[in-house]
Amino acid sequence: MSEDRTIADATRVVTAGRRPEWTQGIVNPPVWRASTHLYGSVAELRANGARDTHHRLFYGRRGGPTQWSLADALTELEPGAEATFLYPSGVAAIAAALLSVLSPGDELLVPDTAYDPTRSMTTGLLKRFGITTRFYDPLIGGGIVDLIADTTRAIFMESPGSLTFEVQDVPAIVAAAKARGVTTILDNTWATPLFFRAIEHGVDLTILACTKYVVGHSDVMLGSVTAAPSHWRKLRETSFQLGQVASPDDAWLGARGLRTMAVRLAQHQASALQIARWLDTRPEVARVLHPALPSCPGHETFARDFTGSSGLFSFVLDGGDEASRAALIDSLHHFGIGYSWGGFESLVTPVDPERHRTATTPDFPGPLVRLQIGLEDPGDLIADLAQALDRFREARG
Ligand SMILES: *Cc1c(COP(=O)(O)O)cnc(C)c1O
Repeated sequence: MSEDRTIADATRVVTAGRRPEWTQGIVNPPVWRASTHLYGSVAELRANGARDTHHRLFYGRRGGPTQWSLADALTELEPGAEATFLYPSGVAAIAAALLSVLSPGDELLVPDTAYDPTRSMTTGLLKRFGITTRFYDPLIGGGIVDLIADTTRAIFMESPGSLTFEVQDVPAIVAAAKARGVTTILDNTWATPLFFRAIEHGVDLTILACTKYVVGHSDVMLGSVTAAPSHWRKLRETSFQLGQVASPDDAWLGARGLRTMAVRLAQHQASALQIARWLDTRPEVARVLHPALPSCPGHETFARDFTGSSGLFSFVLDGGDEASRAALIDSLHHFGIGYSWGGFESLVTPVDPERHRTATTPDFPGPLVRLQIGLEDPGDLIADLAQALDRFREARG
């Protein structure tokens, strides 16, 4: 259970989860790599195996001190949370959160801007199990109340939304959900608990693709779900039944990343803002979709609820097509062309929101480019983008 609200997050990411019984006298908890744990007696075996024991060695699938330490640290970053479960990827975390609350016959509400694998999970896996999904406008706010039916069991949120960064009114959606006894689930990967405290905002289950900012070095797949007290038991039980376990080596790398997450995010934030504002001045750019800029839908909500912004955003080109966008992207030297984000290195991808949306109609005057701003010098990144926009202008004609 999280406690001590007095220390700052930058301190918390350094100290959290480092219990002496897990670190064993060194700074970082060692990698406890095990399937089998050994008991001193039959009585001890029975006691450790009891259904509700937490943080007692039982069997590798229930984890050990390396995983518990990272999970505990993530719980400490969400005041009011009960506990955290780790998963071998962010998508696995999303699956466990959804399956811990939904049953056949239930309806789920999902924002039209949800991460595409989340969409496929609802229209594929969940549909096969008799769970229906309705996609909603991410900017619906308190209007969500009109979509809540008797069968609606959960409302999923992702704020800001994938690809186009619409910021959701989480408090209004949570209030409507609570009034109707509906569970709320948030994908908080973009903001992390350092920039948006989900549980304090009333969310029941908050998800991180730790693959991104927690790990921070583009070399590990990892996910987490942190639960409010009302939702922890069911989450833990479901995760055990699904056989989910994050490896101790990956949890160790996740914890190692977490220790520098506050300073990394501060730099991602500063560099991304500088570059977003510079792009906003360029004639080749029609619009910058960065939550901290007024040109981003839901910016007022961002300004009210978030304490910072991270390093991922998109911009809309002024005209052009697939070929001129590719000319821009292919000419970049400091941006790798690749999926994922949250690592130390800058990345670029072409994004096409109209390919995924069904409840809203994206309407942009040109193609979109998504940037992950890494920890390189922002001046070098701006110079690179400037020459790339020249290439785009030439190709566009
Ligand atoms: C990457 C991502 C995920 C999935 O995480 P993986 O670890 O890649 O499975 C989930 N949500 C969002 C918003 C993401 O960007």
